[in-house]
Amino acid sequence: MENKAKIAVIGSYAVGATIRCRQFPAAGQTVPGHGFEMMHGGKGSNQAVAAHRMGAEVLYATCIGDDSFGQMCLDLYQQEGISTEYIRKSTEGTATGAGLIYVNENGENEIVIGLGANNEFSSEDIDRIFPEIEKCKILLMQLEMPVETVLHAAKRCKEAGVSFVLNPAPFRELPEEIFRYCDYVTPNQTEARQMLGISLSENISDEEVGIQLCNRGIKNVVMTLGEGGVLLVTESGSRIVPGIRVAAVDTTGAGDTFSGAFCVAVAEGQDPNKAAEFGNIAAGLAVTRYGVVDAIPYRKEVDSYRK
Ligand code: ATP
Repeated sequence: MENKAKIAVIGSYAVGATIRCRQFPAAGQTVPGHGFEMMHGGKGSNQAVAAHRMGAEVLYATCIGDDSFGQMCLDLYQQEGISTEYIRKSTEGTATGAGLIYVNENGENEIVIGLGANNEFSSEDIDRIFPEIEKCKILLMQLEMPVETVLHAAKRCKEAGVSFVLNPAPFRELPEEIFRYCDYVTPNQTEARQMLGISLSENISDEEVGIQLCNRGIKNVVMTLGEGGVLLVTESGSRIVPGIRVAAVDTTGAGDTFSGAFCVAVAEGQDPNKAAEFGNIAAGLAVTRYGVVDAIPYRKEVDSYRK
């Protein structure tokens, strides 16, 4: 593709250790598992790979440890053909992020992540690379880095006229101020409610949640609805953009593929509706395969599905 869209993705890299089991263990329980695998993960990294495979030129920045998991990160980016220039090593001897993932027989997952060196990525790191971020159409971030770093980056993007997209996952308390710096947020249904401090048991529609988020200052809400696709709430109203019908085997990383692909489409100038369709196809293809990075499709697969 000529004239690739340029987007920045800043966020976590972590190595995920996955094991499959029939049912998740209850507290204190040990259950048999199978198919142990070590794989690349971290929401930032997954989203950067997704954006790259969707055809964007990606600036990816993170902080890793000076260890074998950190080397796995560098190897991944070399293989993918993404620059490692903005991946820095911990100066405090902190280990690379690592996560433990259980996948049950329904393809659902449970994850515990230790962010390690990702927690060292600071506002100073943002300032250091901001001249490069400014050359991008979009900066996409998640919440596996310090919230102050994310807030600082969002604010600088607002000042510089770079679109800021927040995937508020995994959810952490956010300062109210950040809402008005977000051009798009891409929460799932749970995260969207958490952003408003609404209890998950409260009887409130997704649409109402999306509207309330916009009323708090967010420009556009793209709420992912699993197999239902996404709910898009923009200034021109709200609508469901349906997902594609597939046989899902593993939804790990579906949200990451969606966010990465959605941002590429927006950076290419597609309207939010078309960008959501594009993201739904990319993420829908991803859930038909096991793994995270291995499951992320390439642009040509999404384009041929669209034909
Ligand atoms: P995860 O945490 O597993 O990455 P998530 O909770 O962040 O996922 P979801 O809303 O479950 O995000 O899914 C993100 C997107 O992936 C959906 O908007 C949709 O496009 C696609 N998707 C997920 N599950 C399915 C499915 N069963 N069939 C088709 N598309 C799916």
